Amino acid sequence: MRRDGTEHIKGRTKFKCPKISFAGGSPHCTCENPCSDAKYGRTVHLVMDENPRLFNDPPRSSEKWKLEYNARTSAERCNKREKLDYKLEDGRYRSSKMWYCRLFCIMMCQHLDAWSLPETSLQNLLGQAA
Ligand SMILES: [Zn+2]
Repeated sequence: MRRDGTEHIKGRTKFKCPKISFAGGSPHCTCENPCSDAKYGRTVHLVMDENPRLFNDPPRSSEKWKLEYNARTSAERCNKREKLDYKLEDGRYRSSKMWYCRLFCIMMCQHLDAWSLPETSLQNLLGQAA
């Protein structure tokens, strides 16, 4: 079956016979044994909510999905770095201001990491504070 688009309003994706030909002005199935009596050949609709890991939009084989996946994994790596490596949640603060201060220090450390500079005294100081 070949993917034939997504109906966002109905939340489903459509697959159709891969041997459909549009030659002669009207679509028709060119299978040796016609796969369906319908003029477009066999068509299957799959509801994406039932199994979103298998049938999703954009499709996993597309370049758009790869870009979204890369952005997602980048954000997850950033969250892991803040929570586990810099121990964001180990702070025993009650005020949101202290949480923001800690978070901003951690983000500065992440920027220092991204620059891949040799360890500076500021980075050591911020690393000890985190
Ligand atoms: Zn067919």
